[in-house]
Amino acid sequence: MRVATVLGNRPQFVKAAAVSGPLRERHEEVLIHTGQHHDEELSAVFFDELGIPAPDHRLGIAGGSNSSQLGRMIAALEPLLATIAPDLVLLYGDTNSTLAGALAAVDCGAPVVHVEAGMRSFDRSQPEERNRVLTDQLSALLLCSTQSAAEQLGREAVPGRAVVVGDVMVDVAFATRDRALARTETLERFGLTAGGYVLATAHRAANVDDGASLERLVALLEAVGGEIVMPVHPRTLARLAAHHLDARAANAASLTPPLGYLDFAALLHHARAVLTDSGGVQKEAYLAGVPCVTLRERTEWTETVTAGWNTLVSLDADAAVAALARRPPATRPPLYGDGDAGSRIVAALEDYAAA
Ligand code: UDP
Repeated sequence: MRVATVLGNRPQFVKAAAVSGPLRERHEEVLIHTGQHHDEELSAVFFDELGIPAPDHRLGIAGGSNSSQLGRMIAALEPLLATIAPDLVLLYGDTNSTLAGALAAVDCGAPVVHVEAGMRSFDRSQPEERNRVLTDQLSALLLCSTQSAAEQLGREAVPGRAVVVGDVMVDVAFATRDRALARTETLERFGLTAGGYVLATAHRAANVDDGASLERLVALLEAVGGEIVMPVHPRTLARLAAHHLDARAANAASLTPPLGYLDFAALLHHARAVLTDSGGVQKEAYLAGVPCVTLRERTEWTETVTAGWNTLVSLDADAAVAALARRPPATRPPLYGDGDAGSRIVAALEDYAAA
């Protein structure tokens, strides 16, 4: 079987790390990197650390508005996929690369396989939510992290076949857990003590694109106080500078460039709590047993909230301070699978191809 995988940004590299290995044991994979994230910090380091095979094709498409990026990606992917003639096109998550891959694949007559299908925040103002819903509608095989995601697809009456395989980020988190825990030199590099700091990330458009939201984010960091370490996404860094909030942010938190997966996982495992608007980081915090405070009104990872380990506070500083003061629950039920989603995905692809 020939599978064309389309990916382009940081969380997708992490997800692909769980699948490319088992997939290539028995099948051909052609990896297409759209270029959505293209620099060392957000791209190359993940290929090196997580052992992802080098891309076969690099489209070099980044920047511009969502619509322009999507348009350029579709225009580049459609002739490429027509040449590769894959049996399946494999897509991850909820980015522009995901939706562009789906539209181009359908145009070429190649069945679309969507990993992390059926996740919903029910907030269509988030571009990621629009990408999820539309990609699911176009997918022939929908691979779900949870049973509730599969049930959601049933309610939406998507035409494809849904299979629950567990979550691919769990595979990677489990496989790297011991290395991350042992990587105390990362804490030393930042002068941190285990359990003595909050790890923060923020890059969602709703939080960082306009000056008023960004100012609320910085004020929230100021209100939280104490030791905060914040690897800053390039998008956020640019906005902080543009809105002259960089000095205030640097005063409120130790700002660092984005970290590689293992350095980030080391800081995550030893943090007192996580403050984030990331999707993947909410899940990883839960797996690591670190309380998470999420800078959003809604999340697609609702189970972490129901379990009491994740609190949604949007940009409300008082709510964030209160959430950080709460003790985590005594129990942490297993969610999102057992760390074997990669192999189950390969089995689901084979079943689909054989049907
Ligand atoms: N991550 C990382 N270094 C960082 C920040 C995040 O390696 O400095 C990893 C994190 O562990 C997770 C992924 O990047 O696996 C999440 O990516 P991001 O927050 O960009 O995307 P989202 O999950 O919100 O789509």
